[in-house]
Amino acid sequence: MRARYALLGRPVGHSPAPAMYGAAFKALQVEADYAATSVTDLELSDAMRRSADGGGGNITLPHKRRAAALLDVPTPSVGRSGACNCFWGARDGSLVGDNTDIGGFLRSARRLLKDAGTRLEGSRTLVLGAGGAARAVLIGLDEAGASAAEVFNRTRLGAEGMLDELKLEVLQARVLGDAGEAAGRYDLVINATSLGLRASDPLPLDLSRLETTAAFDCVYGREGTAWTRHARASGLAASDGLEMLVEQARISVLNWFGVEPPAGPMRQAALAALGG
Ligand code: NDP
Repeated sequence: MRARYALLGRPVGHSPAPAMYGAAFKALQVEADYAATSVTDLELSDAMRRSADGGGGNITLPHKRRAAALLDVPTPSVGRSGACNCFWGARDGSLVGDNTDIGGFLRSARRLLKDAGTRLEGSRTLVLGAGGAARAVLIGLDEAGASAAEVFNRTRLGAEGMLDELKLEVLQARVLGDAGEAAGRYDLVINATSLGLRASDPLPLDLSRLETTAAFDCVYGREGTAWTRHARASGLAASDGLEMLVEQARISVLNWFGVEPPAGPMRQAALAALGG
């Protein structure tokens, strides 16, 4: 019987995930299907249990935090972040979940900084946002041994609550009251807000007045994002979230099948889906 994997979120219509995972399954020659399903808060628990029976799936907006609370066996990454984006059924029927956004961010941010001639370890960073992506980013920075993070979020209380919950070990993090306070020297500035999803969105931050080496946008697009184009025009190394998307998906497949698919076909499939 073919295994079945699902993307559970709301909305899911424009996600490149089915194309990307389809390419991964084909490359690994595994007998599995992947489909996106829109589910409400109330439907999430049943949908996860159904999908985990002989398979698993991914969780996207707005359910990552709710999904974490529904697991029987959370990985340490879920425990630290309070968010789950990847789940599967164990042999004994229990529901297991992981947060692969953390590893996806780490892999792609390390690559960006290496290409820019620097490294994440010991870096000074500015993180925009306080949602699920920002949590994954901050835990990744902490695990990588980054030295400092200044955090700015539209809702200051949200950023303060996030830092209280995360209990960072190495990373010295503090909340900025205003984007105007972001005036230091950074190695990396990260957009983990949802600004950039819509063409009409303003830029998350004007980079021209900052001293930084690189900019990482968790938001992705077929030709980068307006913010990564702005960063490159300001002379910075920049990456949008496409590599993070591909890497978190490769780690998801590793969780499910014990082997990582090649990135190339997945990236191509995601780009084709984004262009369609
Ligand atoms: P959440 O809904 O959890 O958080 C959204 C964040 O964006 C909050 O900090 C929110 O601020 C902020 N925000 C929303 N609208 C505005 C606005 N108009 N102005 C300023 N700030 C705003 O979403 P996620 O953290 O899960 O996702 C954020 C982005 O990251 C999404 O675009 C998502 O697609 C992307 N992402 C990419 C991944 C990848 O693999 N590349 C993985 C995960 C996410 P406030 O607290 O004030 O509401």
